[in-house]
Amino acid sequence: CGITACVADGDVVDTVLTGLKNLEYRGYDSAGVATLNGEGVRVHKREGGIDEMVADADGLDLGGQFGLGHTRWSTHGAPTDENAHPHTDCTGTVAVVHNGIIENYADLRAELSAAGHLFTSETDTEVVPHLIEDGLAAGLDAEAAFRRAIDRLEGSYAIAVVVDGTDAVFATRRGSPLVLGVDGDRRFLASDVPSFLEFTSRVVYLEDGDVVRLTPGDHEITDADGDPISRQIDTVEWGS
Ligand code: GLU
Repeated sequence: CGITACVADGDVVDTVLTGLKNLEYRGYDSAGVATLNGEGVRVHKREGGIDEMVADADGLDLGGQFGLGHTRWSTHGAPTDENAHPHTDCTGTVAVVHNGIIENYADLRAELSAAGHLFTSETDTEVVPHLIEDGLAAGLDAEAAFRRAIDRLEGSYAIAVVVDGTDAVFATRRGSPLVLGVDGDRRFLASDVPSFLEFTSRVVYLEDGDVVRLTPGDHEITDADGDPISRQIDTVEWGS
């Protein structure tokens, strides 16, 4: 299983799909992508292989400067199209990819359902877009809504999200791996370096609790309180 993401000045869809293919070795049962452009969030996902998912995407207008990809290894809910990631909120404003397990998802799901949120999957993951939706509805901006959502989570996770109207990818990790790649205007995220090693060998190893905001040409890493963290960019030797 794995997550990947890319932001750049131009269209990132092909890069995200390549990044996903490069994570195939980790094993998975479903795959999907989400992109964000001036016209909103697009999601394409299905049970099965990446090649099947890509073949299915033919004719869909998936282009965008902000992209997420996911290969799923099911822990909560069978491998079905509905349970594949990315997961969205009720309004289709937020898309989320997640690796790991959200231990307190049942409580969160009960709370959100009681507040009127409609769930379309059996995953633990789907509480995340709905929590972010709640924050947006309360008037928070995307980053604040993301932070408030992850504050509620217990368990292990690497999570990346896009929010319509916000030109960024937000991500965090706790107990699951997540690395950042740097190359000119492009910024990458992945569960493992091989996802983007063909594009860049300059990486930042994120640590538990790091919150990262990726924009074309820039990245910002902060702690849970929003205070900046400086992490060094390492150079990975090719073939290592
Ligand atoms: N727990 C999530 C699910 O079952 C994520 C699994 C994964 O890490 O791929 O959908």
